[in-house]
Amino acid sequence: MSHVVVDNPHGLDQQLAALDLNPDGQGGGTGRRYIPPHLRNKDAAKNGFGGYENKDGGWGGAPRDAAYNSFGGRNDRSKSAFFNDRGSGSRGRYERGGFGGGGNSRWVEDSRGEDDWSKPTAPNERLENELFSGSNTGINFEKYDDIPVEATGTSCPPHIESFHDVDMGEIIMGNITLTRYTRPTPVQKHAIPIIKIKRDLMACAQTGSGKTAAFLLPVLSQIYTEGPGDALQASKNSGQENGRYGRRKQYPISLVLAPTRELALQIYDEARKFAYRSHVRPCVVYGGADIGQQIRDLERGCHLLVATPGRLVDMMERGKIGLDHCNYLVLDEADRMLDMGFEPQIRRIVEQDTMPPKGIRQTMMFSATFPKEIQILARDFLEDYIFLAVGRVGSTSENITQKVVWVEENDKRSFLLDLLNATGKDSLTLVFVETKKGADALEDFLYREGYACTSIHGDRSQRDREEALHQFRSGRCPILVATAVAARGLDISNVKHVINFDLPSDIEEYVHRIGRTGRVGNLGLATSFFNDKNSNITKDLLDILVEAKQEVPSWLESLAYEHQHKSTNRGRSKSRFSGGFGARDYRQASGGSGGFNSNRPGRNAGGHGGNRGFGGGGGFGGNFYSDGYGGNYNHSGSVDWWGN
Ligand code: ADP
Ligand code: MG
Repeated sequence: MSHVVVDNPHGLDQQLAALDLNPDGQGGGTGRRYIPPHLRNKDAAKNGFGGYENKDGGWGGAPRDAAYNSFGGRNDRSKSAFFNDRGSGSRGRYERGGFGGGGNSRWVEDSRGEDDWSKPTAPNERLENELFSGSNTGINFEKYDDIPVEATGTSCPPHIESFHDVDMGEIIMGNITLTRYTRPTPVQKHAIPIIKIKRDLMACAQTGSGKTAAFLLPVLSQIYTEGPGDALQASKNSGQENGRYGRRKQYPISLVLAPTRELALQIYDEARKFAYRSHVRPCVVYGGADIGQQIRDLERGCHLLVATPGRLVDMMERGKIGLDHCNYLVLDEADRMLDMGFEPQIRRIVEQDTMPPKGIRQTMMFSATFPKEIQILARDFLEDYIFLAVGRVGSTSENITQKVVWVEENDKRSFLLDLLNATGKDSLTLVFVETKKGADALEDFLYREGYACTSIHGDRSQRDREEALHQFRSGRCPILVATAVAARGLDISNVKHVINFDLPSDIEEYVHRIGRTGRVGNLGLATSFFNDKNSNITKDLLDILVEAKQEVPSWLESLAYEHQHKSTNRGRSKSRFSGGFGARDYRQASGGSGGFNSNRPGRNAGGHGGNRGFGGGGGFGGNFYSDGYGGNYNHSGSVDWWGN
């Protein structure tokens, strides 16, 4: 797969100029209203797109080698040469074929249980190729260096600059080399040493900043150092208790909770890479797929479990999973999980079962935003945690050019065709629409117009969704029409253009959507169609544009002004999004903001005693929580995003 580095902002500007997106409608466009191409000065339109002449399928045509050069020229040091004791620890932990590969591989239980988990097991060329062949390219690393990072909390360890600055052991270091991650991303620089010294962590960082490896590397590294502990024996005992034909209950050492199956699968894939040549067997469970198959997979051994909350509760209730030895708990995209109504399941898993209490287990929470619900969860689940706020890598950073254009409903389709033609048919474009029906209709329309496109939404079967994502990722269908679901944590790393055909009503949703482009330091473009229907998002959108130093259409400013003067009492979204993505350690703010004080009795920051929050679940919901907050905090019971 070719990932082309986009490092030519100039080219981007030219293309944008050609698109006639001038917010004030000068030149071609007029004022607020979009003029469809057939009504416009034809010459202007034709010449306008002339700036885009690069036929290499890239934007701005950065030489492809730049991507590799940025890895420091390390292009030969791959494969298992890095495991210098090749074979020494290989006692056939996995039968031929390795785990997870062909589906018929088997986990071979260590009969003695005293094996050294810190030593790599035998290499497996086929598996190695499978896991690492698609590894990343095209990261624009220079973008990283000035990203602001703030770490607060008691005795925070210094950050690292290189993966070699901290001892993560042979297995991890070998696998880092195989993935070709040459330098840690900002969130990794800070989170890795924090997790390594066993501190709890609350990290706010945007999608695309490399959070997955930020927690997987240090967690796995600790598991390798410490070995399976009691978990292995517990699983064996369970097997014996259940008799000869009994199935073993699995006791994962580490649990990662994620909001959607796509995200869970991505984390699982990443976990398999870093678990290569180790004794750790990662598993994944999520709703909407055959549970029997997942159970059979679990029964082959499960040391690191990636799960969506609903399906995990199901597995626990069926006695397939015990969390008694779960020493590492990660909540990924915690804000998304709450938005999706998973809080009851999360509390059931963390507080009302057999998981070790906070303070005993190590807990890490990741979230793009830090609204009050997340602060409460952090307070309940974390012990004397370090708060990490990483400036935006993707999303509303300067990596993303954000355009807002006034387009009436009836003009949206023809404007879309213009945009697609201007950016080139081959660059991955993600088009967001509001409804499932809208997604189907737009896909049909684009198809009829001769565009290779596909769509993804909640009415599609699991198989169809996976197929659509695959078609998109592979570039066979470079246009993906999606409902909001596609924004949930999907790592589609080279999306060049996000188009909000329909804007969301929630600014956080907007931030998540545009976070699909400009990932990991690359440049991206986000274009949003705005009209009368979107007035509710006016003010928040304006704030975001200003903050990210984007061009603000003057009509948007006027609208925001009008809006503010109509309704003076609409503080919710503002407070929710204060300071950008809300990444501020509320414990630092004296007196707290919005009534969430850090000096509530017994809840002193950094000094939580005992294990309150375990086995309780109650204890909040008091009046500090009802200050007008929670407008779009939607509990939808146990139904997951896909309606399963
Ligand atoms: P997030 O969870 O913050 O959205 P991911 O963990 O999904 O981000 O990472 C985004 C992409 O960046 C992935 O494709 C991942 O493989 C890649 N990546 C992560 N860390 C590094 C690194 N240190 N060097 C190069 N690529 C990285
Ligand atoms: Mg992630």
